[in-house]
Amino acid sequence: MLLPLLLWSTMFATGAEFGPSLEGEVVPAETEATDAAEGVDTGAVGCSDQYLEGGVQLPDLPLFFKRGITDNEWGTPEMIDAIVSATRHMRWLMPAASPVNIGDVSHEHGGFQSGHITHRGGVDADIGIYSTGAHQNANGGFEVLGDNFDVVANWALIEAFLDTGYVDFILLDHAHIARLRAYTTHAGLLTEAEADDVFPTDNHPWTRTGYLRHAPNHDNHMHVRVLCPDGSHAGSVKAAG
Ligand SMILES: [Zn+2]
Repeated sequence: MLLPLLLWSTMFATGAEFGPSLEGEVVPAETEATDAAEGVDTGAVGCSDQYLEGGVQLPDLPLFFKRGITDNEWGTPEMIDAIVSATRHMRWLMPAASPVNIGDVSHEHGGFQSGHITHRGGVDADIGIYSTGAHQNANGGFEVLGDNFDVVANWALIEAFLDTGYVDFILLDHAHIARLRAYTTHAGLLTEAEADDVFPTDNHPWTRTGYLRHAPNHDNHMHVRVLCPDGSHAGSVKAAG
């Protein structure tokens, strides 16, 4: 599952700043991971996309990331580790990049969270993406990027998440996905075969292939879904009620 170690680019483009962020999303039900755990390992430790047990709250690490609504920042240990590890890596790789803005993860014990269909089991997190110049809004929240998507910095952030080994999939606007695929293949960072493993290989909006998958309303942030501790997909098979 781990991507091969790739060459990092530290190129920065000059930046521009943008207006206030637009938050709020509704992830289509078709994009929710509802697969039951696969395989026959009866000793597996699964997790739920409906509620959260043993959740961990995102710590204060302002050098790495800017927190949002702290009551909404509880996740599985894997989710929190993924956020901390990936954003710590970005601070090392691109010291001038803005801290990453973190949106909603889940409530302490999970369950329904206003504005979301998912985000109920501590396995989903909304993560800010960089505008040109590896910039994120200093006041928190997400920026609408359009063509000002910083493909170098955002690929570095996505790769840092993938390299944690915890990621199930990442939801992002298809236009940004196309930019990332073009960049990584043209720059020789990924072969076409590797790109097929990372990016959707068809144009169907609900494709379940690839780590990066299109979802509407994800042009100003990405939605990271992590796996359960045993590597299975989070599912609702254990959900109570
Ligand atoms: Zn989300």
